[in-house]
Amino acid sequence: MTDRKQPFTIGILGGGQLARMLALAGYTLGLRFLCLDPARYSPAGDVADLLVGDFSDEAALSAFAARVDVVTYEFENVPIECVERLAQDVAVHPHPVALRTSQDRLTEKQCFIRAGLPVHPFEAPHSRADFLGAIGRLGLPCVVKTRRLGYDGKGQAVVRSVSDAEQVWQELGNAPLLVEAFVPFKGECSLIAARSVAGDVRFYPWTANVHVGGILRSSRAPLAGVPQEWLRRAEATAASLLEEFKYVGVLAIEFFITDQGLLANEMAPRVHNSGHWTMDAGITSQFENHVRAVAGLALGATAMSGCAGMVNLIGHAPAAAVVLAASDRHRLHLYGKEPKPGRKLGHINMRADTPAGLDSLLDACEAAVLNPSSEGIKPAPPRA
Ligand code: AMP
Repeated sequence: MTDRKQPFTIGILGGGQLARMLALAGYTLGLRFLCLDPARYSPAGDVADLLVGDFSDEAALSAFAARVDVVTYEFENVPIECVERLAQDVAVHPHPVALRTSQDRLTEKQCFIRAGLPVHPFEAPHSRADFLGAIGRLGLPCVVKTRRLGYDGKGQAVVRSVSDAEQVWQELGNAPLLVEAFVPFKGECSLIAARSVAGDVRFYPWTANVHVGGILRSSRAPLAGVPQEWLRRAEATAASLLEEFKYVGVLAIEFFITDQGLLANEMAPRVHNSGHWTMDAGITSQFENHVRAVAGLALGATAMSGCAGMVNLIGHAPAAAVVLAASDRHRLHLYGKEPKPGRKLGHINMRADTPAGLDSLLDACEAAVLNPSSEGIKPAPPRA
């Protein structure tokens, strides 16, 4: 190792809150972080070194590659060309093929089918006629999604009538689309898995999730009321997917829970919002395990004791939430972002000994967070 490479430095593509929490977890292991982000101010810049540059800027990519020992990414919409270019000079984890697969909802679904994870019916139309035909075949209501670049409910719409279909085509039809059958799910859940360089695979306790308007509102773990056999089967399939990708790091897979079984909806080749509870209730958080994996270290334990919950602070971070977070059961995490409608500004984690105890903590937390009269918290001003 040269001086330049001391100590071990992890390069993160993106400087958002996930990068911030990865860095916070990794510093305790003696690791350093350099984030590449086009924005002059980004949440990770408060706690990690930041290189301001565009993901398509060759000079920025070269400078970034020269300063890091390994590269990872914190969002799946990072341009694949950037990741593949960096992979020529430096190890990239998770493998760029996993990223490429997850960037297109069609290849993602094909990957699930190949692996043996059941998915709900879908079609990938290539013309307006094909689009209307797909809706006819899948039936109403159905869900239309852009194949690429959608997140937090953006780039998708529910079609409930023929006139909706026309309007959605006008809005989204100039991008490649996926039309999905609407799933009348009983609930949603996610599996957070981690794989080390040595091939050790670990799963966190399954998490139950509630989305509102396509954005994750709250999570709780462990998941209850789903046959263990379904969970073990999905874990076995996820393990084979991780193996196929020679995956290193944390992978999240989101599922719909139906009477017939679990249906895989999407995957994220990164740490995931539904795993944020692991920061305060897991022995090793998802952030630490991702960092450990990409740094070539052994994974930490993924077990938990008791029950854990998480509520997202979306659009505003009310003062009441801060007061609540001062309780000995709630922990507040803020990302240093300016409030904006729909923006994730932070989250509150909580722990309880029993599911009923967790219910009341989650209820109190959601009431405080959703209270429109709560006064907003002023985040630290952006750095000059
Ligand atoms: P996604 O971007 O695919 O994760 O979708 C965001 C959220 O929208 C999901 O977590 C569900 O709550 C809802 N959703 C997405 N697709 C469907 C579907 N086919 N049927 C019913 N709800 C859906």
